[in-house]
Amino acid sequence: MKCIVCQDGETRAGATTVTLARKGHMVVIKDVPAEICEHCGEDYVDPHIIQDIVASIDKMPENDILVDVRHYVPGPATC
Ligand SMILES: [Zn+2]
Repeated sequence: MKCIVCQDGETRAGATTVTLARKGHMVVIKDVPAEICEHCGEDYVDPHIIQDIVASIDKMPENDILVDVRHYVPGPATC
């Protein structure tokens, strides 16, 4: 698809890193499938994937970790 940020590049399937804040600490999810703009590098992550990540973060137990770095694990299909 056409990039909506630079309106110049085309996006290609790739992977990106998503960072979310949760109750005072950061959760960094690596290797999240995304469409990446080949021109400006803007990443477009499927909203369903973001929902999966947020849902999985909500299930994590409370702890004292300030920055939690994880690999993306595909959740159950949500369609
Ligand atoms: Zn772009």
